[in-house]
Amino acid sequence: MTQLLEVRDLRVQFSTAQGTATAINGVNLSLEHGQSLGILGESGSGKSVTARTIMGLLDMPPAKINGGEILLEGEDLLTATAKRRRQLTGPVMSMVFQDALSALNPVHPVGRQIGELYRVHRGYSRKAAKAAAIEMMDRVRIPAAASRVNDYPHQFSGGMRQRIVIAMALALDPQLLIADEPTTALDVTVQAQILELLKEQQAENNMGLILITHDISVVREVTDQVAVMYAGRIVEQGPTAHVLGDPRHPYTLGLSQSVANEDLKGRRLPAIEGSPPDLLALPRGCSFANRCPLADEQCSSSAPPLESVGAGRTSACFHSGKVASNVAYSN
Ligand code: ADP
Ligand code: MG
Repeated sequence: MTQLLEVRDLRVQFSTAQGTATAINGVNLSLEHGQSLGILGESGSGKSVTARTIMGLLDMPPAKINGGEILLEGEDLLTATAKRRRQLTGPVMSMVFQDALSALNPVHPVGRQIGELYRVHRGYSRKAAKAAAIEMMDRVRIPAAASRVNDYPHQFSGGMRQRIVIAMALALDPQLLIADEPTTALDVTVQAQILELLKEQQAENNMGLILITHDISVVREVTDQVAVMYAGRIVEQGPTAHVLGDPRHPYTLGLSQSVANEDLKGRRLPAIEGSPPDLLALPRGCSFANRCPLADEQCSSSAPPLESVGAGRTSACFHSGKVASNVAYSN
């Protein structure tokens, strides 16, 4: 069967006053139907730009797509017409952003915003659209949906608003849902509820889910697969339990040790010294080399490709075979 989503060697740059920033530097990703994939990486690693490029939401300029393919069920989105993209957005792929408030229109009742999708894409009558909206609000567990369908966004709590945004994203039964830090703006209890909802909807509808987060525990909790992102590249991908439990890239190992330290001492200790490279001047070799305990001459002269490192796993490291839990980051 065709993969649900395949991203091959995607490259995106931004022109800025300081020069050209390489935000996405050859991203490779794949996702099967019905699978959930976490994209994990620290702030600025290119997660949101990747999502926006897939959804066709980049502002060009300043952004420019310099190469690659994005295949959705085999169809290349980068060469698709604007009309075709509009047909796909909603019924085939959709997205949930971090900030529910900006995704909702403050001057329209929430039921009308959900119902509008059915009117536009399926030609429903007003009455049928309203009924479908109530059904969706029920599905995302908004209490007393029928009596709240005419309420405005500001009449809901942050968590309930995010549920409404999720209802809109799920309304047309997409094959692929991309959720970009969907719980970062919410308090911890509500976060857990929203993640639970996403996980359950993904499984019940055999939907592909890409969950973007900087939080390793979110990935561990929700996703089957994880892709670890660093300086605009995927440096490791594979089944979540295997990748996080037995990393094959030194960066993944550093991330997992950083969390282990946090658990132990009750505060976050940076397991990995140093900082990501300047996107205006990426190094010739591996972007992680300057922070990596395994780096040697080869690493600073050429960039390691993402290669198979066992069943369903890939890593972009010349020393993937030497990454083991006993490699220690010195602080
Ligand atoms: P994150 O992983 O935190 O979601 P982003 O994908 O938002 O990171 O951004 C990756 C990098 O792309 C940023 O560090 C930034 O340098 C660059 N970038 C993103 N948007 C713009 C923009 N509109 N103009 C210039 N640079 C941008
Ligand atoms: Mg982001």
